[in-house]
Amino acid sequence: MLQVNNISFSYKVDSTLKNINFSIGQGECLAIAGESGSGKSTLLKLIHGEYDLKEGEIYWNEEQILGPEFNLIPGPDYMKYVAQEFDLMPFTTVENNIGKFLSNVDLDKKQERITELVEVVELEEVAKTKVKYLSGGQKQRAALARALAKEPEILLLDEPFSHIDNLKKQSLRRSLFHYLKKQNISCIVATHDRDDVVSFADKILFLYRGESIAYGTPKDLYQHAKNNLIASFFDEFNEFKISEITDSQKFGIVIVYPHEIQIVKSSDLKGIVKQSFFNGDHYLIKLGFNGRNIFIKHTKLLERGRQIYFQIDELIMQKRVTNF
Ligand code: ADP
Ligand code: MG
Repeated sequence: MLQVNNISFSYKVDSTLKNINFSIGQGECLAIAGESGSGKSTLLKLIHGEYDLKEGEIYWNEEQILGPEFNLIPGPDYMKYVAQEFDLMPFTTVENNIGKFLSNVDLDKKQERITELVEVVELEEVAKTKVKYLSGGQKQRAALARALAKEPEILLLDEPFSHIDNLKKQSLRRSLFHYLKKQNISCIVATHDRDDVVSFADKILFLYRGESIAYGTPKDLYQHAKNNLIASFFDEFNEFKISEITDSQKFGIVIVYPHEIQIVKSSDLKGIVKQSFFNGDHYLIKLGFNGRNIFIKHTKLLERGRQIYFQIDELIMQKRVTNF
C-alpha cells in the first residue's frame, strides 16, 4: 500500500504542492488529474524519490520513500516510473529495450516474457525494429513495456498515452489496465485526458495549483462535480443560476451536462438555436439563452433561429449545486 501523508514541496519560493494526502491499496489505480502546471509530474517524481520533501512522508508498506539526500539512486526496485520524456536505447530493438533489465539465466523464459509484454502494448509489428525508427507513440509503448518487464508492485505513468494515435489509444488503454489489474499492480496515472482514466481509475485526485481540490471515484466526481474545473475534465457543461431554472430564490450555481437537458413541447425555459455541431451519434446544439450560450445534446440537427423549449432533470439540483 502507498501512503502519501500530508506532503508539501516547492522548487523555489512558491509552493508547487501543498498538503497532499492519499493512499492506494495493492492493485488499485489512482489518476492524478489537473491542468498543465498543476503539479502532476512533480507529485509522481516525489513518489519516485527524485526530490527531498519539505514536509510530510511517503510510505510503500512499511518502507519510507526518501529523496536524494538519503538515497542516491531514485526509484526503489518495486516501483517503475515512465516519465513524460522516456529514455530508451535508440540503437537497439524494441525487444532488447524491453529485455534490458531481465535476467539472462533462462533465455527462453526471457523471450517469453518479452513476447508477452510486446503483446500487452501491441507492438508485435515492430518488435525487431530499432527504437530510433519508431514513431513517438511506438516509443511510448516500448517504454511502458520496459517498465513492466520486472513486474513492479507499483507503476507511475506520466501522460502515458499522449503520443499515441486515437486509433490505437482505446485498445492500448484496455489492454494495459487489464494487465495491471490481472497482475495486481498498483498504478498512478497523471493525465489531463478524461479518456485515459474515467473507465479505468478506481479513484481520481484533482490538483489545482498544487492543491487537492477533489478526490473520489470517477462516477461520484462526475455526478457530483462541485465546480467547473472538475466538470470540464469530464465533458462540456453549462452553468445555471438556481433562480434561472427553478422558482427558488436561493443563491447558487448548478452545473448541468448537455445530455441532461431535454427538449420538450412547452416549458418556462426557452432558447434559440444558434448552431448544430455534428458529433457522431448526436449533435451538440448551441442555444442562445438569457444572453449567453448553452449546449445541449440532441439526436437531430436543428435549424438555426428555431425556438425550442427545454427542461432540466430536478434531481440534478440536489446533486450539483455549487454555493458561493
Ligand atoms: P504538470 O505535470 O501538472 O503539468 P508540473 O509538476 O510539471 O505540472 O509543474 C508544476 C509547477 O512546477 C509548474 O509551475 C512548473 O513550472 C514548476 N516546475 C516543474 N518542474 C520544475 C523544475 N525542475 N524547476 C522549477 N520549477 C519547476
Ligand atoms: Mg506533467
